[in-house]
Amino acid sequence: MKVVVLLGAPGAGKGTQAPLLAARLGIPVVATGDLFRAAVRDGTALGLEARRYMDAGQLVPDEITIRLLLERLARPDAGDGVILDGFPRTAVQAAALDTALAARDTSVAAAVLVDVPADELIRRMSGRWVCRGAGHPYHEVSSPPRTPGVCDIDGSELYQRADDQPATIRARMDQQLGALGQVIEHYRTSGVLRTVDGLQSIEAVAGAIDAALAEAGVAAAG
Ligand code: AMP
Repeated sequence: MKVVVLLGAPGAGKGTQAPLLAARLGIPVVATGDLFRAAVRDGTALGLEARRYMDAGQLVPDEITIRLLLERLARPDAGDGVILDGFPRTAVQAAALDTALAARDTSVAAAVLVDVPADELIRRMSGRWVCRGAGHPYHEVSSPPRTPGVCDIDGSELYQRADDQPATIRARMDQQLGALGQVIEHYRTSGVLRTVDGLQSIEAVAGAIDAALAEAGVAAAG
């Protein structure tokens, strides 16, 4: 099981890179934010609980988040490996992941940090829109849709997630950057941390991720 962790602050471009990397490696993306949004949409008990934190720009408690992630990792399509996007976000989550992988005789192959300075993150996030159909991401400035308010890919309506609205962004950044620091340290200590410059073009960031993974011994599917 090949487990790659993508790290970066909200808005660093992980959400753009993860599916591209998934196609290159031939393993699925597991994004806890998407899992939570699906649970909210489905109106499950876990979704209702998680929503209170998400709408306030806070992290969902570790116990709930770890349970959700482990359930997802147990599904058959995760058998060859996964790209984790948005997990772990705390040191407790990172340790829980290590324990779960150790029980399967494996470990995180690489943790790739997409590094972007805080002021650039705020600029990026306050212009972010996603589609209702599938969450395809757009940005007012750097990647606008062909028709304003409409998804290029599936034609559904674009909206700003409650947690992407400017008022929520600051609170979210302050809390999450602090926790991200702990996760970065966790992987620096275990020796699997790789850092790529997130201020480059999408293609250049993708290339830098491939180079970092090759260095860590993670090869593309072919
Ligand atoms: P994201 O799409 O990754 O930005 O996640 C959206 C929201 O889901 C976050 O602001 C958190 O409230 C929650 N969330 C996603 N992943 C995690 C995690 N690993 N730990 C705690 N909360 C999370």
